[in-house]
Amino acid sequence: MISSKPSEATTGRDVTKLVTPGPILLLGAPGSGKGTQAKELVRLWGIPQISTGDILRANVAQGTELGKAADALMKEGKFAPDELVNEMVAARLELPDTANGFILDGYPRTLPQANWLDAHLHTALPLVAVKIQVDYNQLLRRITGRRNCPHCQRIYNIYLQTPKRAGYCDVDGTELIQRSDDTAEVLEGRMKAYEALTAPVIEHYHQQGRYAEVDGDLEVYVVTAAIQSAVVKIRLGE
Ligand code: AMP
Repeated sequence: MISSKPSEATTGRDVTKLVTPGPILLLGAPGSGKGTQAKELVRLWGIPQISTGDILRANVAQGTELGKAADALMKEGKFAPDELVNEMVAARLELPDTANGFILDGYPRTLPQANWLDAHLHTALPLVAVKIQVDYNQLLRRITGRRNCPHCQRIYNIYLQTPKRAGYCDVDGTELIQRSDDTAEVLEGRMKAYEALTAPVIEHYHQQGRYAEVDGDLEVYVVTAAIQSAVVKIRLGE
């Protein structure tokens, strides 16, 4: 059967206009698709993605003090210190493009980060948290098969979402790269950190309400539609 991407009406793109998105928090294990989904929501809602992983990688690439401090930790799949990450987020939230909302991707990842965020978030609308649920074997394939375009940041997968020309970005022809922490060995450490430190963050937001879970094993556009309708439903109920 040929599967084609459905029209805007069936993807739920039209529902985005019903609400101001406000701050959205995407939760889920490494490889659950937070980055991919954040980029879809950026496109649909016109609000920025705030990915602490991306900010840290940019610092590593630029060789800043922050990058030097985070580089070794990231290579081992360990977390950067909370204060450092909180400061980074505080600086990013100051920018005016966050006025109608933003998508947090990969932050908060620990309970101290979540408590810091709760205390420092002064947005008109409260945070909505959406967890993307994905089976472990699928996570493994997604992580080890993931390739990124260093130029436009588009994400591919050598098993699941191949570029038209192997090894090169469809959009700008740049050679794709593999993140140094996207290996089966490093994933083990990242999953341990996720279970020990991030699972309590999920419970924290679950208990606060304004929380939804979506099935992340489905096709990208189906997951996007599920996140959109969850956010709209929660916002309309406020
Ligand atoms: P990500 O791109 O979200 O998978 O993040 C890649 C790596 O950056 C993680 O494995 C951590 O080493 C680091 N990192 C990203 N976000 C955070 C965070 N909120 N707290 C601590 N470390 C982080």
